Amino acid sequence: MTDTSALGAEVAQMYERTTALVELIWGPNLHFGYWTGPHDASGKAEAQDRLTDLMTERVPLVPGQRLLDVGCGVGHPALRFARRTGADVVGVTIAPNQVAAATAAARAEGLADRVAFDLADAAALPFPDRGFDGAWALESMPHMEDRAAVLREVARVLRPGSRLAMTDVAQCGPLEERQHRDLRERMLITALPRPELLGLVEAAGFEVEEVLDITRSTLRTTDLTRQALEGDRDGLSLRYGAETVEHLLRVLDVYDEAVTTGMEYLLITAHLPAAGARA
Ligand code: SAH
Repeated sequence: MTDTSALGAEVAQMYERTTALVELIWGPNLHFGYWTGPHDASGKAEAQDRLTDLMTERVPLVPGQRLLDVGCGVGHPALRFARRTGADVVGVTIAPNQVAAATAAARAEGLADRVAFDLADAAALPFPDRGFDGAWALESMPHMEDRAAVLREVARVLRPGSRLAMTDVAQCGPLEERQHRDLRERMLITALPRPELLGLVEAAGFEVEEVLDITRSTLRTTDLTRQALEGDRDGLSLRYGAETVEHLLRVLDVYDEAVTTGMEYLLITAHLPAAGARA
């Protein structure tokens, strides 16, 4: 593996420990769901696929083209993208167990010829320049200690004109030092102020096209997850360890408190200038 930041190493360890339980509750999508409004009765799985589809719409590749999936989890969004677009996907994650699970899923779905997964740190991508036609990062950017480095790497491996869709959190109101510490230490994420975050996207060479605040549309995720964990706290603790269950419950509290006071969940779309275009 390439040189992983301190946070990266912790993230890898955390996903090794929690992926099985998170998968039990969330299914193979390791990301939040998206609900269209208070009357949207979709279940978690449907709402999670909807968020994947919002990302897919923003990076509309065609057969023969290649998507880079930055922080691919166990591969479910990548496989859905590949099925829906006919394009190829290469996903990277820093959690070794996820590479194995995602690779097995691609094989099981008969998509191993078009979808592959590698163990890599997004801040040091093991790919040559300009080999991809689009990229996305679905709920992985919050874990990236050095977002600037990751964005530069993503820009390097994309062809001119390529699209990038990413979700990230941003600070949009007062967050106390303690909240920043909880986000960093319990959730293993950091939140930059929105202008600073968008500044990093642009500094890497991207032009920002759209910034959607999807905080409210995704918020039901933490309630449903809390209900699932609390509904079978003892059983889950026996199977996955009380420490893991309690850790996840604390993570939900940290997130909910942050978005109540000063954090937003954003869906950002950007693109690299076309070849020959002047900045
Ligand atoms: N996009 C996937 C997984 C989201 S969970 C999904 O929606 O299902 C966050 C993912 O980011 C995990 O796979 C984690 O391993 C990955 N990740 C976090 N930091 C990373 C880094 N520095 N380099 C590569 N992947 C990273």
